[in-house]
Amino acid sequence: MSEQLERTILVAGTGPAGLAAALALAAAGREVVLAGPPPALEDRRTTALMHPSVRFLEELGLAEALRAHAAPLSTMRIVDATTRLIRSPAVTFRAAEIGEEAFGFNIPNAALNRALAERARAEPGIRWHECMVEHWQLDAASVTAKLADATTVRALLAVAADGRNSPAREAAGIATRTRPLPQSALVLNFGHTRHHGFTSTEFHTEHGPCTQVPLPGGFRSSLVWVMQPADAETLKTLDETALSERLERQLQSILGRVAVEPGCQVYPLSTALPARFAARRIALVGEAAHVFPPITAQGLNLGLRDVAELARIVHAHGQDPGAPAALERYDARRRPDITARSRVVNLFNASLLTSLLPAQLARSAGLGLLDSMPLLRGFFMREGMRPGSGLAALLPPFDRRS
Ligand SMILES: Cc1cc2nc3c(=O)[nH]c(=O)nc-3n(C[C@H](O)[C@H](O)[C@H](O)COP(=O)(O)OP(=O)(O)OC[C@H]3O[C@@H](n4cnc5c(N)ncnc54)[C@H](O)[C@@H]3O)c2cc1C
Repeated sequence: MSEQLERTILVAGTGPAGLAAALALAAAGREVVLAGPPPALEDRRTTALMHPSVRFLEELGLAEALRAHAAPLSTMRIVDATTRLIRSPAVTFRAAEIGEEAFGFNIPNAALNRALAERARAEPGIRWHECMVEHWQLDAASVTAKLADATTVRALLAVAADGRNSPAREAAGIATRTRPLPQSALVLNFGHTRHHGFTSTEFHTEHGPCTQVPLPGGFRSSLVWVMQPADAETLKTLDETALSERLERQLQSILGRVAVEPGCQVYPLSTALPARFAARRIALVGEAAHVFPPITAQGLNLGLRDVAELARIVHAHGQDPGAPAALERYDARRRPDITARSRVVNLFNASLLTSLLPAQLARSAGLGLLDSMPLLRGFFMREGMRPGSGLAALLPPFDRRS
């Protein structure tokens, strides 16, 4: 076994999860070979990052980029905009209620990807091949990848950060339950005449949530509007004036007059949950490990927790971070968080889509309890930011585990 093989980790995929994984593993002293195309700067989405994710990215050297491009999220509101018989009360979550100035920050994906890529290019421990992995070969002792630029990389561990259809996951033979959803997300940015007050509002409709998230400056926001795929395609063809009017109606004019910016995009939605999160010297992170609809801003926050845990496992298994014991530990450590988040988000989405009375009653009762019980609201706010912290805050101080 060569010295090179022992130190090298291959990261496949250059979305935010892959770039963050490359940076975290290089920071842990590993030689990282990163394979994937230049970052997607045409992505019009924004990502709401909760505080623990923000702190993690700051540790990776992104503090300046976050300060320059992100808006704080100090209040989050859920409004029932359905026309159903049973409707839920509006629920408002204020970060101040749990002693925080903000839950986190909302940052445009293009700015986040650009900043991560710049850091990766400047990091001497990362060798970036801007091309795809074309072929995987796995055996008990190592993983070998053939890249499109004709390079062959051999490593003890490969990180699959290659997205929802993950070829690396397939090569590892990990069975995955995938399901297309009858929903697409229309994504755009827009200006408005009223200050957003650093508040995000999620309007729940019969076809999914329509979520406005603040951008820096007070008078711009981003939008993720989940609806039936045909409706998303129709709205995408509207001119900006017609789309602005339609959006203003949907937002009940809470932000005054609305002017959508050019370049709206449509993302078809699906779910995916692999049976394992690591096998045969390949560890899954980001959307290779979990896909669910964009509700309550969980996806990349979960992906960054995958990366942070993987970096800890690599540190603890310095000799062979791809050994079965290391991968089993990674799988066991990530399973509760990933499966719980996936279930809750999918259940919440399903409760919006169904017209069954019991489901509507349960959703309405749940939101009603959240609205009226500050303790429960505090629990959910903390859990939304960091798993386990809601429960920890309910325990007496000497019992708390951070
Ligand atoms: C509309 C919408 C809004 C969202 N909003 C939020 C939010 O507010 N907060 C939040 O936390 N999450 C949010 N998410 C989820 C978040 O966007 C995803 O979790 C995140 O983008 C996934 O990043 P990733 O790096 O895992 O995957 P991707 O960004 O898909 O990256 C995968 C990368 O792998 C590369 N690749 C593929 N095959 C290969 C190969 N063979 N070799 C090398 N590279 C390969 C691709 O080119 C790509 O660069 C949202 C999602 C959607 C759809």
